[in-house]
Amino acid sequence: MKFYPEEYRIKDQRMKPFIDPEEIWDYLNNTESTKERVREIIAKSLNKERLNLEETAVLVNTKDPELIEEIKQGAKTLKEKVYGNRIVLFAPLYVGNKCTNNCKYCGFRVTNKDAVRQTLSDQELIKEVEALEDNGQKRLILVYGEHQDYSPEFIAENVKTVYSVKKGNGEIRRVNINAAPLDIDGFRIVKESGIGTYQVFQETYHPEEYAKYHLGGKKKDYNYRLTSLDRAQEAGLDDVGIGALFGLYDWRYEVLAMIRHTNHFEACYNVGPHTLSFPRIQDASTIDVDPKYMVNDDDFVKLIAILRLAVPYTGMILTARESIRVRREVMEFGVSQIDGGTKLELGSYHESQNEDQNLNREQFAINDNRSLAEIIDELIDNGFLPSFCTACYRLGRTGEHFMEFSVPGFIKRYCTPNAILTLAEYLEDYATPKVVEKGWKIIDREMADLDNFKRVEELQNRLGRIKSGERDMYF
Ligand code: SF4
Repeated sequence: MKFYPEEYRIKDQRMKPFIDPEEIWDYLNNTESTKERVREIIAKSLNKERLNLEETAVLVNTKDPELIEEIKQGAKTLKEKVYGNRIVLFAPLYVGNKCTNNCKYCGFRVTNKDAVRQTLSDQELIKEVEALEDNGQKRLILVYGEHQDYSPEFIAENVKTVYSVKKGNGEIRRVNINAAPLDIDGFRIVKESGIGTYQVFQETYHPEEYAKYHLGGKKKDYNYRLTSLDRAQEAGLDDVGIGALFGLYDWRYEVLAMIRHTNHFEACYNVGPHTLSFPRIQDASTIDVDPKYMVNDDDFVKLIAILRLAVPYTGMILTARESIRVRREVMEFGVSQIDGGTKLELGSYHESQNEDQNLNREQFAINDNRSLAEIIDELIDNGFLPSFCTACYRLGRTGEHFMEFSVPGFIKRYCTPNAILTLAEYLEDYATPKVVEKGWKIIDREMADLDNFKRVEELQNRLGRIKSGERDMYF
């Protein structure tokens, strides 16, 4: 392999680079989309089978508006089947924006001299977490630039600090990480601090395009980044999150590459990625991106529906990069996790700041700056069940996504009851009277839907205990 320096050459044949641009373009250029084929593939996915590259290429190459509608409806049906109407909530927490890399789409790139650099002190981190807990958050993702100051030990200390912050009934029960690739020892150190998922986005899976956008720093190394989550798996970190930054290269190529990446994990570790992310490029300070590959809203909705069908069991994350309108639309077609009450400026959860974003203090522009309370209010109005569940990961039900998928009835026995318990806590501790009223209504409706009497009885018992002040009960 021409771009595979010896020191990164992985001895184990299974670990050979697995993204082959020629193979992907071969599928995209030589795969036809017909009505019969599209319907066959949707049926396979509704049977909860993951799609291969050829099948994904058929859906990607579908141009007929009626068939695209069928793809979206298929994704909607599958989402309801696998995830019910739950939407899991989290918040990003930026800890440090020093960075030695030079990514042309990012406000934190090393060459941006206007960027205001900051790393939260322990005290500032604690204040941020307290502010997030005061809003009712239970799940966080800590975000870092790539810099020698943000070592595995530093990240691990942050994770322990976050878990140690308890304010009233507030606590963070799951901490995920979005940071630079590490070596196996580094991943092991971070894993031992008790994190959930480690996210590393490839940005673009096309090696040549990748080189055009990553001009300096360790992130220039396409292969080191591409194989980073293999090292995480080798370190025993089996909850990993992958993603591409849509707009850097052809979205059709990136979709197939994400499926190839998923294949790879299943083949090598018998577990797919825990989550998929598909952020679209947004404005950023000193951004320098060719608009040629920008993804319009129609294609964006289509690619989310296709990813849903292609990988039925993986969580799909949509962030506040997207507008309220787009988020509302795509939540139906596959998204299972969203952030709420998001602030990107370091220290801004506890230090009030004006509503306008300052892109020299934030990585990119967001388009949904509603509070967590506003988002929960709307989710309930739209028939979704907001969830802060962290049970599987804390009960060691690793590979948990398979649970929902592989164990029939898992949703009704665990996911929905746990979502109900976490929503009840939120209603008791943080919600406005208006949301309390409609929140308990949706809980009653969900309970009526549960067919396992013993579980319903136990759930009612626990809801009573939540009303009398107990917290953190889960199945
Ligand atoms: S995208 Fe990440 S690695 Fe690249 S410049 Fe921004 S913070 Fe640094």
